[in-house]
Amino acid sequence: MTNDPEQLRTTLVAYLRALRATGRQWVRLPPDWSKGLSPISPPCREAAPLPRPVAPLPPPHSDPPREPIPPPAPVSPALPESSADREERLDRLAALRKEAIGCRRCPHLASFRSQVVFGVGNPNARLFFAGEAPGAEEDRLGEPFVGPAGKLLTRMIEAMGLQREDVYIANILKCRPDLPEGAPGNRKPTPEEMETCLPYLREQIGIIRPEVIVALGATALEGLTGLRKGISALRGSFLDFQGIPLLPTFHPSYLLHKPDLRLKRQVWEDLLLVMERLHLPISQRQRSFFLTKAQP
Ligand code: SF4
Repeated sequence: MTNDPEQLRTTLVAYLRALRATGRQWVRLPPDWSKGLSPISPPCREAAPLPRPVAPLPPPHSDPPREPIPPPAPVSPALPESSADREERLDRLAALRKEAIGCRRCPHLASFRSQVVFGVGNPNARLFFAGEAPGAEEDRLGEPFVGPAGKLLTRMIEAMGLQREDVYIANILKCRPDLPEGAPGNRKPTPEEMETCLPYLREQIGIIRPEVIVALGATALEGLTGLRKGISALRGSFLDFQGIPLLPTFHPSYLLHKPDLRLKRQVWEDLLLVMERLHLPISQRQRSFFLTKAQP
């Protein structure tokens, strides 16, 4: 330890400055603190005031001040429009539904179906889900995606912060594909059946004019784009359907048959892309759905 008074003073001032930086305003000295001071030291009546810092020191580890974050602007799941436009869409959809209900272009399907499953949802929807064909439950109830896969689709829509009523849902085929009597399950539509029925779906999309289409499964993708590649090869990127961004992803029924968390995460990442494209708010929690458990 040095006895040089100037060096001792410098050390003491640095020490007191360090204390002040931590918020300390004073220090306690022992009663005999001046004992043994050298006579050559200047008389020291009280501790010299510490030099005032030019600018107040920030508290330790504090973050720089931030601009207040404005709340996100409300995002409507439906297209803004006049009521006249909405009425016109409703009228056009009703006319198209009426035509489809009487359709017998596929005689074998017309005689097999219980009813035509036209489509359901918001005529102003910004988001359009296109599926394959009605199953037994849809054929019975007249609404697309109401069976187990439909319930999963509804949960997916709700996880996006939307309601089923906010979007529009329709299939490539409006009639249930026929099966031999007593055969269980469903069958994939033939290319001829898809080609015959596709004008209805194309017109639905033309009336609603959504901002994004999600093609659920390879059949919907093939019907809308003609592409016969698997969903695994094409999911995760937007394609184009008549100027509208189209995102292919796995059909909910595929998720039900193959309950793999990584698969769920892939579908969810596709839906996050859709949410970003529609400028829907996305929370940190939503971004991490299926993430932790899906990691190896
Ligand atoms: S599948 Fe489509 S085109 Fe064929 S009969 Fe049904 S509504 Fe008509």
